[in-house]
Amino acid sequence: MTARSVEDHRRHVAALLAALQSRSAEDIPLGDGLGRVLASDVHSPVDLPLFRNSQMDGYAVDAASIRAVPVALPVRGVIAAGPVDPVTHTPGTAYRIMTGAPIPDGADAIVPVEDTETADGEVRINRARSVGEFVRERGSDVKAGTLLLPAGAILAARHIAVLAAVGLQRVPVRPRPRIAVITTGAELVDAGSTLRPGEIFDSNGIALASSARANGAEVVSISRSGDDPAEFRALLTEATTTADLVLTSGGVSMGDFEVVKDTLTSLGAEFGHVAMQPGGPQGTAVVDGVPVLNFPGNPVSALVSFEIFARPEIRRAAGLPPIEPDELPLAAAITSIPGKRQFLRARSTTAGVELVSGPGSHLVAAMAWADVLVDVPADVTALDAGDLVKAIPL
Ligand code: AMP
Ligand code: MG
Repeated sequence: MTARSVEDHRRHVAALLAALQSRSAEDIPLGDGLGRVLASDVHSPVDLPLFRNSQMDGYAVDAASIRAVPVALPVRGVIAAGPVDPVTHTPGTAYRIMTGAPIPDGADAIVPVEDTETADGEVRINRARSVGEFVRERGSDVKAGTLLLPAGAILAARHIAVLAAVGLQRVPVRPRPRIAVITTGAELVDAGSTLRPGEIFDSNGIALASSARANGAEVVSISRSGDDPAEFRALLTEATTTADLVLTSGGVSMGDFEVVKDTLTSLGAEFGHVAMQPGGPQGTAVVDGVPVLNFPGNPVSALVSFEIFARPEIRRAAGLPPIEPDELPLAAAITSIPGKRQFLRARSTTAGVELVSGPGSHLVAAMAWADVLVDVPADVTALDAGDLVKAIPL
């Protein structure tokens, strides 16, 4: 791969990940549906409410019999919420009824208990009610056959509530792309280890996995290789058995121990430079039929590479909407390296976007303050306060 533009590399990655887009929908238990994306429209199999029921604890009556109040009506029985035999109303009488209980056939209004007094098997009604008051009609919320939720809905608790209310046990959702992450570098150790001189904590493994999950993917494994090609190759083989996509970090630039580059070049991988900063060194491969994206190891480079190249394809595969850049004013003047498209870490404030760090790709702490990447074109070297820039939400 010779030097490429960001757009060219995006197209290359999109083509490489095409198979991710064609996986078919899966039916999952509704209880596992939170955050998943509906694969098809869901229509209601039933009316809601399922039957005509009371909106209040009170008395089921016919409105005609309580036009002149106060009036005393004989109480014929009590209807609780729960399984009951159908009951028929006789005009001029009342049933004590609880919220959610089926209303007797022929009753057409509910008098809340607050407007009544009881004595000697009778209820005294102190306030008139008209036909339909506190009656929840069958199908008044939704009719059988009506659209409940459209394909593409991201299931939140309120969506799951209605699917549960109509009695659905399973829900058709988009498959989550299965992603494996492999980090590389002899210097990397797990948090909790005692650092020896030269060692650092591995942040890319967990960060790339979190990025993948945040965009609708399922992370099937996170592993780490030292700088030994055999070790890396073995991890790669393992990752490709379960993953639709493997993301690697590190080992793709110009040093002496570039384990990813050294291992994958012989397997037909492409390594080269994308005209961007951070994230210049990039590689792509297909191993055992599974696409592999090789990101550079600097933490900011790895995350920016994910956002620019992997995120759009993963979101599309997961059925999530694309993240579009905003046009925002700069809070202060900035400069940019000529000839390189820059993705500057910045935060949006009421005064505009302001940079949170300099250009160093190791500045992971600074990046934590950013909520956007300011996308500065290659030919732009200076911008003034108030100039509109493309800000890509993180
Ligand atoms: P590399 O791309 O392997 O040359 O790594 C570039 C820089 O990123 C070096 O300073 C590495 O120590 C650092 N680095 C590489 N991988 C990781 C990682 N997984 N977590 C944190 N830093 C890393
Ligand atoms: Mg390295």
